[in-house]
This record gives sequence, structure tokens and C-alpha cells, in this order.
Amino acid sequence: MSNRLNATPNDLRAFWMPFTSNRQFKKEPRMFVSAKDMHYKTHDGRTVLDGTAGLWCVNAGHCRPLITEAIREQAGELDYAPAFQLGHPKAFELANRLVDIAPDGFNHVLYTNSGSESVDTALKVALAYHRVKGDGARSRLIGRERGYHGVNFGGISVGGIVSNRKMFGTLLSGVDHMPHTHMPDRNAFTKGEPEHGGDIASELERIVTLHDASTIAAVIVEPVAGSTGVLIPPKGYLQKLREICTKHGILLIFDEVITGYGRLGTPFAAQYFDVMPDMIVTAKGLTNGVIPMGAVFVTSEIHDAFMQGPEHMIEFFHGYTYSGNPIASAAAIATLDTYRDEGLLTRAATLAPYWEKALHGLRDCPHVIDIRNIGLIGAIELAPIAGEPTKRAFSAFLKAYENGLLIRTTGDTIALSPPLIITEAQIDELVAGIRHVLETGI
Ligand code: PMP
Repeated sequence: MSNRLNATPNDLRAFWMPFTSNRQFKKEPRMFVSAKDMHYKTHDGRTVLDGTAGLWCVNAGHCRPLITEAIREQAGELDYAPAFQLGHPKAFELANRLVDIAPDGFNHVLYTNSGSESVDTALKVALAYHRVKGDGARSRLIGRERGYHGVNFGGISVGGIVSNRKMFGTLLSGVDHMPHTHMPDRNAFTKGEPEHGGDIASELERIVTLHDASTIAAVIVEPVAGSTGVLIPPKGYLQKLREICTKHGILLIFDEVITGYGRLGTPFAAQYFDVMPDMIVTAKGLTNGVIPMGAVFVTSEIHDAFMQGPEHMIEFFHGYTYSGNPIASAAAIATLDTYRDEGLLTRAATLAPYWEKALHGLRDCPHVIDIRNIGLIGAIELAPIAGEPTKRAFSAFLKAYENGLLIRTTGDTIALSPPLIITEAQIDELVAGIRHVLETGI
């Protein structure tokens, strides 16, 4: 085979990296070569404290023995089984385990391979559900400004991040967006859920009136938006969305790709906020980020509508070659075992007060204009450099990495979401490291 780049194995040109400034990266690459528990090792031999659980996914920490062993065993026993018209026991076992930790009534799951696929799966279930019920005019989808729902066509259509949408044409038709809830002028330095802005939910009522409820299939929101800077729902906001959706027969979908599996100290954010959607979209922490897998939880009401619907619709015409893949299923079961054995699905609740205090201790640092937190999620928003948005936070990211800390930045916000196994001493280390970065000039 000809190698057209004439490259050596470690040449960096061939891999076109996602969501990465390729030119910058390839001049100064940052590579991880191994990981254990709370730490990564870099290609140049340094240790990096993981302040972001990889990408919000490695909730139990890195290279956990139960998970590694389950993957090894499953790969040696049944590596793959076709996903359609055939099954294997692990996929069913996992579904039962998932239903056990889900809120009451979420008795069924569909499998996917990522958050993006979970989102598009849920949107398709919503559209099909109304058709099965004989209400096929309900075809509109409502998302939210600053929402992130992955990168597939459904997800970017309901998503509200301009840069993720603008290169790709008109996207899905029949989509509208609610305003986001971020009110930095009124809610800066709030601990937990902000006081102001819950009434923004009534904008949904306006959108419903505009299009007429009979045309609307579903509303999708992240209970806590992560990728757009950690936007925590104001008090009463999610409850109000639920009320409006219920009143108008609209399905409510929670995208819990980052909040699922213990991030807030409950298995899912639905339980934390005590607001029950009709579907819960998950991925990431389902397998501790180790193997790509997602799951969409649906209520019995939705599932049963299909089962009792017309014969030709009982088969749901959707699925993936790797839906419920045996190795992914085994990894997910071992992940749930690890979460259970170590109490990780509730650990964020125990750590939250310490986390909150430590983070808000950074309020006096240079450039800090807001600090937000909930569960084991934190955000430190920095004043943007005039005319150069995102630059300050990105240089904080680079400097932190040099100093042995993995933080994540979105816009001018540092977003933190450490593995749920983090200790108080490691929280102190993370926060002291960020203080050092902010104080030594960025
Ligand atoms: N939804 C939300 C809320 C997310 O945060 C993400 C990923 N950060 C996704 C969907 C997409 O997940 P994936 O990258 O696995 O496709």
C-alpha cells in the first residue's frame, strides 16, 4: 500500500482531529499514553490530574480493574453478535440493570454508540411515537439556544451552538429554539441553582402558541448544559417546562449525556431535580467512557404505545450494527458494578459542599467574572480579552496542562467535571493549580 503522505507511524498529518485546532495542535502536540484512577501520563513523561473525567465520561476514574477484566473476558468469549433479529444475554442483563437505577417508569432502553446517536434516536422515537398514536401531525422539535446535543443532523438541528450549525446548511425543518437561561448579570457567583430566570420557561408557551401544540412532537434540553459553559437551570425552570409539555401532549426529552451516571449525586439529573421527562438520553458514563456506547431510556407509556400499535410498526425501523454490542454491554455492566460497589452514583452529593466551597474560593483571582457549580460540576468564567474571545480560557487550558492539570474550556469558561472518585485533597490540588494559572498571567 502506498503511503501518500510518506509518513512515519507517528506522523501527525493523517488524522484530521475533531473539534481541535489542528494547526496549533500539530505544532505542539499534547498526548496521553496511559492513565490510572485520577491521573494521565503524557508522552513526555509527565503526570496530569484529570479535572474533567476525560470528556465528562470517566466517572469511576481510569483503567478500573473490573471494567478492564470484563472487556478482556467478553472479547475472548463472544466478540460480536448481530444486533437485529438476534440477541445475546449481556445486552438484556444490562438493560435490566439500567432500569434498576432509572427513575420509576423508565422501564425500557434502546442502545446506541454515542451521545449524538442517542439524541437522534430519541428524536426519532418521539416522532414515531406520535405517528403510532395516530397523531402524525406532531412533527416539530423544540431545542434551546446554547444547547448541545451532539453532532449528528438531528442533534445540531435542535442544538443551539452557532459554530456547530452554520457550515451545514438548513438542517432539519420544523425546529424552533427556546431562549437559553444564562443570566450572568443577575446570577453571577450563584451556588447551585440560580434564583433568577425560572420564568424563561414560559417562552415555551409562546412557541407552542405560535406553532400550535398539535404540530409539536418534543422538547429537548440538557438539564444542566455542559458544553456551552455549564448553564445550571434556574429554580423552577425544568418543572415549568414539564408542566407546559404535559399540558400540550408534547414529549419532554432530557439529554443527560453529561449528567447521567452520578454527576449530580443521583443516578440521573431527573432524580436530582425531581422532574420526570419522557425520555432520558445517555452515553459517556454508561461505560465509564471506555467503550463507545449510549442508551436511551423511555417510559413504559412510550414503549407500550409501539407494542400495542399497528402490527407493521412494532418493529422500530432504527438501530445500529453495534446496538448492544457484547463487549460494550460487558463494559457497561462492570461499570455499573463499580459505581454500585464504590457508591459512586451518590458520591457527588457527599463531595458537593466541599467542591462548592473550594471553587468559590477562586472568586478573588484575576479575570474571574463568575463561578457556577452543581453536583461535581464547576465553571469558572473569565473576562474575555477584547476582540479575542476564548483566547484567555484557552491559554489557561494550555498553561494548566503544562502544570499537570487537565481542565476543559468552552468559550471563556473553564468547565470542571472530575471523576467521581476524586478526594478532597485532590480537589484542593485542582483548585490550587487553577489559582496558580490565573495568578501567573494568562
Ligand atoms: N449531548 C450532550 C449533552 C453532550 O454533552 C454530548 C457530548 N459532550 C453529546 C450529546 C454528544 O455525545 P457524543 O460526543 O458521544 O456523540
